Parts: sequence; structure tokens; C-alpha cells
Amino acid sequence: MIYLKTEDEIELLRQANLLVGKTLGEIARIIKEGVTTRQIDKLADTFIRDNHAVPTFKGVPNPYGGPFPASVCTSVNEQVVHGIPTDEPLKNGDIVSVDCGTLLNGFNGDSCYTFCVGEVKPEVKELLKTTKESLYLGIQTAIAGHRLGDIGYAVQNHCESRGYGVVRELVGHGIGHEMHEDPMVPNYGHRGNGMILKNGLCIAIEPMITMGSREIYVLDDGWTIVTRDGKPAAHFEHTIAIHHGKADIMSSFEEVEKVEGKLY
Ligand code: MG
Ligand code: MG
Repeated sequence: MIYLKTEDEIELLRQANLLVGKTLGEIARIIKEGVTTRQIDKLADTFIRDNHAVPTFKGVPNPYGGPFPASVCTSVNEQVVHGIPTDEPLKNGDIVSVDCGTLLNGFNGDSCYTFCVGEVKPEVKELLKTTKESLYLGIQTAIAGHRLGDIGYAVQNHCESRGYGVVRELVGHGIGHEMHEDPMVPNYGHRGNGMILKNGLCIAIEPMITMGSREIYVLDDGWTIVTRDGKPAAHFEHTIAIHHGKADIMSSFEEVEKVEGKLY
């Protein structure tokens, strides 16, 4: 069931998502060689709670691995998504995707950014740049009257034409009172296919893009998704609303980019 949001609900959704943007900005400040993903998690948990919200990922159930034990997902290098924070220090040249969710005033924020640790190989930076570009191409396509398949096509075409893999098993989603609502928002598709996008539709668009093959598997912890060939993967995510006919981006990378500059 697809639940279109009112103006008031869109503003509440924006508040929850702006908090995610601020949290990612705080994380950007501490990311460097030697920092552990557990430290990133602790910072996010404290910052979110200090801002009167709840980190939504903590305790998400999973029959194969038990509830998610942390407040953010931290996915390093070949980890695509759902990585569990650890005490392993980040190394120079690593990439780390930090996916963050908040619940504030009954609405969910959800956004992800892939960060560089120190000096990252140019070909890996190119993967991050392309993935981020594909997110914004998907967002530009998300206007009233277009169809869901147009978004997936925009992401897929941009990434596959540059030789990257587009993960099929995991997709974006509707968002609102629930973190995951209908519809599913794949990062692949055909133009003109799928539901018509309407004002009030709120969705998370989240390309998960691999440097090599798009094949993935789940580690024994039941959570961490990794590439089968061990090559790096990138993940960027924004929550948007179709608002006054256009894509209105609810989350924000502004705080991250204030720290990082426009790396990609
Ligand atoms: Mg997310
Ligand atoms: Mg999401």
C-alpha cells in the first residue's frame, strides 16, 4: 500500500532527514586512518539521541543473524551494505559507507554516504563519483508524471555504461512512519515502466554499485552483504519527496561536503 504524504508530513520527514544529514556531517569530521567503525557508531548514537531522536537501525530484527547491534551500518571496501561496526581501525585507502537512520517525531530519516579514508586509489574514487552522480540522475528523473522505472533506468544506464555493476537484490523504498514502505525502488529498470510518480510520494533512492561483478552474498553474521569478487562497492542514498511536481531532497550531504569539500 502506497501512502502519499501531506505537506505537514513532508516537513516532519524533512526534519528527520536533516538530522541524518547533520549526523553524517559529524561523522565526516572524525573519519581518518586509525578510527574504528565502532567509534563512528558511538558518535552517531550519541548525536542522534542528543537531538531527541532514535537511531532506527538499532535492534532491527533478522531471523538469520539476530537484531542489528548498532546505530549505523558501516560497510568497508568490499562490503556493500549492512556492515556491523567493529574495533578494527580504518586503514589509509579504505572506503566506508555509513548508512544512518533516525526516527524523529514519528517520521524516518534514511541516508548514506561513502567516505574515503586518507588517500584512496583514483579508480575507487571514480566508482564513488559515478555512484553519487547516478543518485542525482535518479533524483532528477523523479518528477510527477514520470514512472518508477525511469529512476532505475537513469541509475543503471549511468553506472553500467561505465562498466560498473548494479546490485539487484537490494533496492530503495518508500519511507514515512515506517523506514521501509511501498513501493520498492530498484536501481535498474526500463523507461516508462512501473507506477506513475505523484506528489506526496516519499522514497529513498540508494544506488549500490560495484567495481566488478554485481554478484553479492551475505556473511555468516546474517547481515553484512559483500561482493562475491571482493572488489569495492559504493552506496549513496537520499530520501526525497515528490513535492510541487519535482524531487525535493529531504536529506542532505551539505554538512559532509562542508568538511570534505566536493571530492566527488
Ligand atoms: Mg539507508
Ligand atoms: Mg534506505
